[in-house]
Order: sequence, then C-alpha cells, then structure tokens
Amino acid sequence: MSRKVLKKKSDAALEAVVKRYAVAVTDAVMETIDPDDPNDPIARQYMPSVEELTISPQESDDPIGDAVHSPIKGIVHRYPDRVLLMPVQVCPVHCRFCFRREKVGLDGGALSPRELKDALDYIRNTLQIWEVILTGGDPFMLSPRRIAKLMGELEKINHIKVIRFHTRVLVADPKRVTRELVAALESEKAVYVVVHCNHARELTDKVKIAVQLFVKAGIPLLSQSTLLKGVNDSTEILEALFRALTEMRIKPYQLHHLDFAHGTSHFRLSIEEGRALTSALQGNLSGIAQAQYMLDIPGGFGKIPAGVEWIKKKGDHYIVTDCKGCNTYYKGK
Ligand SMILES: *Cc1c(COP(=O)(O)O)cnc(C)c1O
Repeated sequence: MSRKVLKKKSDAALEAVVKRYAVAVTDAVMETIDPDDPNDPIARQYMPSVEELTISPQESDDPIGDAVHSPIKGIVHRYPDRVLLMPVQVCPVHCRFCFRREKVGLDGGALSPRELKDALDYIRNTLQIWEVILTGGDPFMLSPRRIAKLMGELEKINHIKVIRFHTRVLVADPKRVTRELVAALESEKAVYVVVHCNHARELTDKVKIAVQLFVKAGIPLLSQSTLLKGVNDSTEILEALFRALTEMRIKPYQLHHLDFAHGTSHFRLSIEEGRALTSALQGNLSGIAQAQYMLDIPGGFGKIPAGVEWIKKKGDHYIVTDCKGCNTYYKGK
C-alpha cells in the first residue's frame, strides 16, 4: 500500500473514533501541550487515537456498574452513607479513558427540573445518606446561580452533613472558577472539592490561581488521579504529581486503577504494575502526599484498596514488609 492510502485509511479510522466519542479540549489545556512531543502526556489524555477502536473482552459500557445502583435518574447509591448526584452530563474536556464515556458527550444533557426534584426527594427521603457527591459530567459546568440553588436545597436536608464536588474544571478550564462559583459553595455543611488531575504539568499558574480561591474560602481540596500508561506510569511522574498537589494544598486522595471502559486498553497497566509503582512511593514520599491506589470492582461491587499488603498473617505471628522490601516478624497480637 502506498503511504497515501495508508494515511487515508487511518484518517477514516480516526473519523470513526471521533464520531463515537466526541473530542473536546479547552484553550487552557492546549497551552500545556508540547506540539513537538509525539508522546506528550497531556495530549495523550485528550487527543483521539485509532487505538480506541480496539475493544477488549472485559470492556463494557457501564464498567463500574452504576446502572444496578441507580434507584432514580441522576442518582447512584452504592454505599449506604453516600450517593452520587449527577445534575449534568457535560464536561469541558473529554478524557479518552473516561469510565462514563458512553454517557458524557456533546449531547449529554442535564436533569430536567422535574428529574432534579425527584433526585433531591430521594436524598431527602433516604435518612441514611450522610454525604452527597456531585459529579457527572462535571458539576462546575453549572452556572454559579444554579449551584447556589442546589446548595440551598441540600442545605435544608438535616441528615446531609457533607457535600463533595468531583471536578475536572479546575485543571481543564480554570477560568470557570470565579468568585461567584466559590461563593455559591458557601455552606453551613462541610464542603469538599475533589480535583481530577493526572500529571504535574496540568497544574499551571492559572490552575494555581483557581485553587487559591477555594483555599482562601476555607474549602478543603483533595485529588483523584487515574493510573495511565504513557501519562503517569512511572514513580518519578507520580511523585512529582503528588508533591505538586500537596504544595498547592490539594491532599492526594485516590489513584484509580483504570476502569474497563470501551476502547481504553492502550492506557491499561496491570494491577501488579500499579502495585510496584505505588509501593515504591511508600517511605520516599511524605505520608500526607500519598494517594491510595484503588480498584473499582467491575459489576457494581464498589471500590477497594488495591495496593500491596505490607502485613501478612503467618500462623501465630505476622510477616511485615518494610518499604525497602525487608521482611521482619511481628510477634504481637
Ligand atoms: C467512587 C464512588 C463513591 C465515592 O467513594 P469514596 O471512596 O468515598 O471516595 C461513592 N459512590 C459511588 C457510586 C462511587 O462510584
């Protein structure tokens, strides 16, 4: 085949990818991409690839089983004490490895006023719910006015004590973080913001300014990252990411093992590789900068820590492994 034909073939393949999973990138993200680096870790997260056409057998359109735990549209209630509330299915960017890529897209809508009322009624009527986690899509795609209104509704529910926002907006579109947005989060209840960030280079000066607005308002920030081949699959990159987050007062919270979303096998590492990377950070990186490595069990069974076990029971004692890999006995109870 001539080169020209080959190129045409891959163009058609890429078109097929983009048709299925739309591309969205912001100016702020574009500024962080090095156009001369074919392996740029930021570009890899957002630029479509023909590798997305490869579907592996474990991959699914609902990789963590949200559907089986959705009692009503816009709510996922998997754990007794907390629910996800998804008011919108839009994002400023479309990550190529997104576990909700079948739902979040250009035509991904918002809950209608009626659906939102029903979702809030479910929260109001389910007394064991202690925490509401706003996710989506990205809840910070809502206008500050709508966020304030939603906060006002949650404020009135006595059994809700904690309100958490999961967002990519801080790193992907920091100009959306305005004083009005931060003011809308003002609450009598504990409000936390969890930032999705996978590489230290995403934390630009613009992002730092946005983060400062939350810090000044007294809103604690945590992070979540996904372990991705070709993006952050080295101890050095993870260490730089967790240090940079901690220096900005964002507490590293969870490092997710990649979920089985369709067409994501080129991002996938094994659990053994994830364990080797995360255990190498133990001891060399401050405890407050450690994120917990997590697996979301396919099928809706929830998240569990996936890192190495440092303590193993052996007969009437324990074998304890230190961070240099040396085993000792622990003879206590
Ligand atoms: C991830 C997730 C949560 C939050 O889990 P934490 O471990 O508390 O961060 C809650 N509900 C559902 C359905 C989830 O998938």
